[in-house]
Amino acid sequence: MSKFTDFNFNGHKALIRVDFNVPLDKQTFAITDDTRMTATIPTIKKILGDGGSVILMSHLGRPKDGPEDKYSLKHVVAHLSELLGGVTVKFADDCIGASAVELSASLKAGEVLLLENLRFYKEEEKGDEAFAEKLSKLGDVWVNDAFGTAHRAHASTAVIAKFYPVEKRFFGFVMEGEVVAAEKVLHKAEKPFCAIIGGAKVSDKILIIENLLERATDIIIGGGMAYTFMKAMGGKIGNSLCEEDRIQTAIDLLKKAEAKGVNIHLPSDSIIADKFAADANTSTAPSNNIPDGWMGLDIAADACNQFTNVIENSRTILWNGPMGVFEMEKFQHGTKTVAIAVANATAKGAFSLVGGGDSVAAVNQFGFADKVSYVSTGGGAMLEYFEGKVLPGIAAVQS
Ligand code: AMP
Repeated sequence: MSKFTDFNFNGHKALIRVDFNVPLDKQTFAITDDTRMTATIPTIKKILGDGGSVILMSHLGRPKDGPEDKYSLKHVVAHLSELLGGVTVKFADDCIGASAVELSASLKAGEVLLLENLRFYKEEEKGDEAFAEKLSKLGDVWVNDAFGTAHRAHASTAVIAKFYPVEKRFFGFVMEGEVVAAEKVLHKAEKPFCAIIGGAKVSDKILIIENLLERATDIIIGGGMAYTFMKAMGGKIGNSLCEEDRIQTAIDLLKKAEAKGVNIHLPSDSIIADKFAADANTSTAPSNNIPDGWMGLDIAADACNQFTNVIENSRTILWNGPMGVFEMEKFQHGTKTVAIAVANATAKGAFSLVGGGDSVAAVNQFGFADKVSYVSTGGGAMLEYFEGKVLPGIAAVQS
């Protein structure tokens, strides 16, 4: 691969895989969150600024069987033009075929063409080679800037690579930022390295914890998943979330951690509730002694201090998953406290990465996104990266 920043795109037609899978209002089709679009604007601008032209391809939603108006990328054209400062965005109503070929062939320097939803063709998700080859004819260089789909070996995200020599494959700025941040945590972490893992289920996080046991000095386990660990250690957890079939897994993970000298931190106490509801009655209890009829929905004061202490003494921090049911005000204090601790550690020079799903929503909701080193945009992709998997969308550009 060549380095995106160093390459001069003057005279080139760059085919860029972007992630414009943005949420749309069901009635008006207005974009309700344009984060994924704004993220990739610098990549597009760099190419246009060099004197190149840009052909954008993306998926949108999950169309079942061919074209569907509600999943058409035509709904994002006007906003894209606005984000690019008024540059006209042409639209090909089919991502392959005569119109796409003609429009891309006649594209001049500084011009932008957006292709219709790739997933209107089943071939995209199947990673069909012939389909990928057709797409590759539209641009002479390929830029992958869609980190959100980097864990999929689809036609436009990975298979297409074989139709470009390695020096004509690039990561855009979004992809590069994500890869650099993840590599820093996974392979160049300064110690102490603390991983904060929360969220609902142990089953979703087993692989990530196993991989982190090889790398982290401390692993904080919070959220609903902590109670399966509590039960595994002989605790009484009332009605708290528990995956009975993962109790043995929890025991094995605890044993492995001990053997490797990794400190596992479980919440000493919990905010408990008499029902899973915003208006539940609440109290506090040791996390391993929750009364019958009650459930742990957040970490409590001692656990907050315990976790803050570990986090603020770390040099590298990875955070995936909330400490409690942060969507309800009564149970968001623990997640907020962890966000503050991560921000404080970052201010003291630690490198902090928040990645994967709800912890990203939490730092955004609490206004901490600019107080951590990096917030990942790729939920599932970042999770798989932390699990130690090779992501096809990354490997395709690099090799
Ligand atoms: P995940 O997608 O696995 O990161 O899980 C996030 C979800 O876990 C959020 O919707 C939280 O409300 C939920 N969650 C966090 N802590 C708890 C808890 N103690 N009990 C039940 N659900 C929880």
